[in-house]
Amino acid sequence: IILRIFFSRCNVPESVVMAAILRKYIVVGGGVAGGYAAREFVKLGLQPGELTIFSKEAAAPYERPALSKAYLFPDAPARLPGFHVCVGSGGEKQLPDWYAEKGIELKLETEIVKADVENKTLTTNKGDIYEYGTLILATGSTFLNLADFKTPGADAKGIYYLRDIGDADKIVEAIKASKGDEAVVVGGGYIGLELAACLTMNKIKVNMVFPEPCLMPRLFTPELASFYERYYEGKGVNIIKGTTVTAFEKDDNGHVSKVLLKNGSSVNSTFVVVGVGARPLLAPLKGLIEEEKGGFKVDASFKTSNPNVYAVGDIATFPMKMYGDSRRVEHVDHARKSAMQAVQAIKAAEKGEVVDEYDYLPFFYSRSFNLSWQFYGDNVGETVLWGRNGAAASESKFGAYWVKDNKVMGAFLEGGSPDENKLIAKVAREQPTVNSTDELVSGGLGFASKI
Ligand code: FAD
Ligand code: NDP
Repeated sequence: IILRIFFSRCNVPESVVMAAILRKYIVVGGGVAGGYAAREFVKLGLQPGELTIFSKEAAAPYERPALSKAYLFPDAPARLPGFHVCVGSGGEKQLPDWYAEKGIELKLETEIVKADVENKTLTTNKGDIYEYGTLILATGSTFLNLADFKTPGADAKGIYYLRDIGDADKIVEAIKASKGDEAVVVGGGYIGLELAACLTMNKIKVNMVFPEPCLMPRLFTPELASFYERYYEGKGVNIIKGTTVTAFEKDDNGHVSKVLLKNGSSVNSTFVVVGVGARPLLAPLKGLIEEEKGGFKVDASFKTSNPNVYAVGDIATFPMKMYGDSRRVEHVDHARKSAMQAVQAIKAAEKGEVVDEYDYLPFFYSRSFNLSWQFYGDNVGETVLWGRNGAAASESKFGAYWVKDNKVMGAFLEGGSPDENKLIAKVAREQPTVNSTDELVSGGLGFASKI
């Protein structure tokens, strides 16, 4: 400490003062992308001691999507170690021992709080300094908090958000403690859709509040949304559309007691779950790396503006080869694939080789109650619905195609089998030309099977 003070007064950088721990590769972020990056390094050849992964979380990398689904089920809920990566894509379950066996240093509950890209060093919250040869940033996102929007009472107890296992455990406890009170789910996006279902499955009466005229408006058309809205209402969910929360009232203990809405109504509730979007976590590299569209700008191998630094998963704004633009994607399939691509590119570069450009086909999905949908491609242009829409979910097989300039750009399917989902993925990848949308309506999945 005395040395640090002395050198800081002499303007000598800390990284020069402290002996840094040298690693060939460092991954910051032990989430989905961090876990898949580790697997790819091992697959392509990793010597013990070459790789360190830092994670703020206490758990080794796990498949985050489980948290808003099976983790909250009333019966036989998913628990670690059951869903460590890479089980979500049918791979080996990487338990903490796996990292040790492979000679990977997994530093859990350790946050990188400072970075120096000139000296290629990172400082942990414990004061350790690491020097990297190549750095992969995989810090993911955090939830938007209603306190950020200055919603009065947003600091009340009983208001929950969901990003990691710690958050999920708090929701599990709140479910157990709930005694027939009504819950409010704020947000009609992914978290809203999946949490409303989980709470209902736990026999909690749910009120869903969101500002838009329909559920999941960024992907669903009003016709698609109406199926899911009717289905949810059939399960007892009260959907309150087109309005937002203006304030939360608290009881004497600072616990939420009432949710006030902009439309003038209110809901008495002691249990609120909020899912109003996510924000990519760019600290502590923010300002040191070029940004684009809210993320770190990367090339087709996920290299940032700094040649020693890669960024993957939620935080990367990457060239979307299929559509000739650049995008940031906050979904698990891309987190896995971008991590693998970056590691392949790093290893190839060491041999003076290059990898093929990342050519990503967007893939989003959700599961709730007995429903399960998948979407591939781009939801641009005219939407063409096909199939039955409105029957009981067990009988429902319906979908949609998105058509722009006579090309099928996107495809959606509810209740598809793995083989059927592959068919719609192929349509979105190949973008077949159609002369009339009638052939999509009458063909439905049959249209996809001919591609
Ligand atoms: P993350 O998985 O979020 O991992 C980032 C990690 O970095 C975290 O552990 C974080 O604590 C750590 N970290 C951050 N900053 C630092 C730092 N400075 N130092 C050290 N560690 C740090 N997508 C789908 O496609 N389908 C789904 O069904 C689905 N369900 C989801 C359910 C939930 C509840 C959530 C929150 C997301 C879901 N997603 C889903 C989105 C998907 O999980 C993310 O897109 C994916 O996890 C992104 O991977 P990532 O590695 O970029 O970030
Ligand atoms: P989303 O962006 O999916 O949805 C947030 C929704 O909340 C949007 O419809 C948004 O509307 C709405 N909203 C914004 N502000 C308010 C407000 N003040 N009151 C009520 N509603 C509001 O984010 P989520 O929170 O659902 O998900 C967080 C992250 O987790 C995302 O990265 C998501 O991809 C990921 N996730 C993915 C899942 C999946 O892929 N199956 C499952 C769970 C999480 P608007 O569009 O107008 O801003």
